Amino acid sequence: MGRLGLGRLLAVAACAGSVATLSARAGDDPRTESVVGVLPLGHPDQRNVELVEAALKRTYRFKVVELKGVPLPDSAYYAPRHRYRAEKLIAFEQKWPTWKVIGVTDRDISTTLYKSKDFGIMGFGYIGGRSCVVSSHRPHERVGIIAIHEIGHTLGLPHCPNPKCVMRDGEGKGLVAKTTGKFCAVCASKIRQWLR
Ligand SMILES: [Zn+2]
Ligand SMILES: [Zn+2]
Repeated sequence: MGRLGLGRLLAVAACAGSVATLSARAGDDPRTESVVGVLPLGHPDQRNVELVEAALKRTYRFKVVELKGVPLPDSAYYAPRHRYRAEKLIAFEQKWPTWKVIGVTDRDISTTLYKSKDFGIMGFGYIGGRSCVVSSHRPHERVGIIAIHEIGHTLGLPHCPNPKCVMRDGEGKGLVAKTTGKFCAVCASKIRQWLR
């Protein structure tokens, strides 16, 4: 965690990602001081964790650290489909004190979407939220692209109408994973300060 104290991280976490708060000390660069924790959930293949880390590091200017992996929480298990509820995984991840947390799992994840009570997805994150989650179950080696998309949501981006943009809606067909992982000019302009 470097020179960021736990107390400071918690203070930052409580204000929903305010950049201004991160700049409290003169000389600090909020982009390099902000820590995104990559949290392995349920022993994913280390290669998938590294794909997520590499995608985030080549796209964004914040610091990326790997957190100690933990088992998937029973609270998120959805027995009828043998998968894990994404919104419950995100709630579980709130315990970690880093500025943002991205969970990585190889298990199938789902949420209520497209009029389906339990719709299988590749990733999940709220706009402006602190935590998000990605699963390699469907995108496999393209899980890094899903990570770029979900972190984009946590940075405040909604879905984008440009079909080539990484922030496009997956439409339940895995369309995000088929992009190159790049932002369109409009989305990039909104989060320019965070991009490499
Ligand atoms: Zn999305
Ligand atoms: Zn876009």
